[in-house]
Amino acid sequence: MPIALDFETDVSQTDRSLETLALHAGASPDPATGALLTPIYQSTTYVMESVGNHKGFTYSRTANPTVSALERRLAALEGADHASCFGTGLGATTALALALLQAGDRAVLSDVVYGGTVRLFQQVLARFGVETDFVDTADPQALEAALRRPAKLLFVETPANPTLKLTDVELAARLGHTAGAVVVVDNTLLTPALQRPLDLGADVVLHSTTKFIEGHNATLGGALITRDAGLHERFTFLRNAIGAIQSPFNAWLTLQGVKTLPLRMERHSANALRVARFLEEHPRVTRLLYPGLDSFPQRELARRQQRSGGALMAFEVEGGAEAGVRVMNGVRLCALAENLGAAETLVTHPASMTHAAVPLEQRLATGITDGLIRVSVGLESPDDLIDDLSRALKA
Ligand code: PLP
Repeated sequence: MPIALDFETDVSQTDRSLETLALHAGASPDPATGALLTPIYQSTTYVMESVGNHKGFTYSRTANPTVSALERRLAALEGADHASCFGTGLGATTALALALLQAGDRAVLSDVVYGGTVRLFQQVLARFGVETDFVDTADPQALEAALRRPAKLLFVETPANPTLKLTDVELAARLGHTAGAVVVVDNTLLTPALQRPLDLGADVVLHSTTKFIEGHNATLGGALITRDAGLHERFTFLRNAIGAIQSPFNAWLTLQGVKTLPLRMERHSANALRVARFLEEHPRVTRLLYPGLDSFPQRELARRQQRSGGALMAFEVEGGAEAGVRVMNGVRLCALAENLGAAETLVTHPASMTHAAVPLEQRLATGITDGLIRVSVGLESPDDLIDDLSRALKA
């Protein structure tokens, strides 16, 4: 019996709210058994009826029904038509770059992006003749100057990990298109619950689904999401060619995690605002970066393109790097860990963890100091989090 894969024909993606889409888009009860949850299709192989005659699946490196269900749901959430899921976020970035770039091409990237993205372009893609310029995309003049020269790719991370610097996506899309670039936004930190880059003119949204999309520190995954059928075809071709598809089990877990995405992001943001207000008042905190605060330098832009401030913030304390490390070592409820975007609050030292691969000068020039503390605020009671941070700040 064919698998019902046409939920979208029953529920129009555009006239349903995000909360409904997060639960229902892309999935329908299994016609064979009535199972409400999409099964984990743990099979590499699909039997054909005759040569050239199959039900849409041939081999799970090319496509898998559980992964396809997640792709339909993620596309619906971003207001797109297509999504392709990868084994990790960096797998998605690699496929993106290999699909769009060749030797001699130029890519323009935000100067603050996840450290692994920097490593991929600087230490891997450079060997294949791809030229990368890291530009302060938060500065409209710098962005415009960088895009006076042709570029094949404009890759923007907003808010940027870990300094939360924002890029105006509408402006970036306009300038990027003039330069001939495909405009990509890494939307990992906010998710479609808080920011919709395709509506602002971007061509592609990239996610590390490892973070808020799955949300429970349980899986690695990535996604490329677009309204452009031609781009989608290039991404799925590349994914098959390099063998980077997501596993059906991870896709299944992510299908469960994403059901609560809108609820979680609302609560993450509310908790983060409470924690940020506490840190803002704390006498030992010398620098605090959180887009939900009125003191945030790009507050106006945050209001315009984000629904709220999100879960991430970064801060420094008096006493420099040593004092910062003491605070990070002093937390008990918050976990000192190299991830973000989970139900549990995670505290990270970008200089030695997520951004260790960024050359020292480049790291310091973009404000990622040795004492910077990143917090991904989770779903615990904000009072308990404030207690924990307050104690660590006394250390
Ligand atoms: N994009 C951002 C903003 C990230 O923070 C990360 C990882 O931390 C990635 C992409 C890469 O994702 P993954 O770790 O799933 O490969």
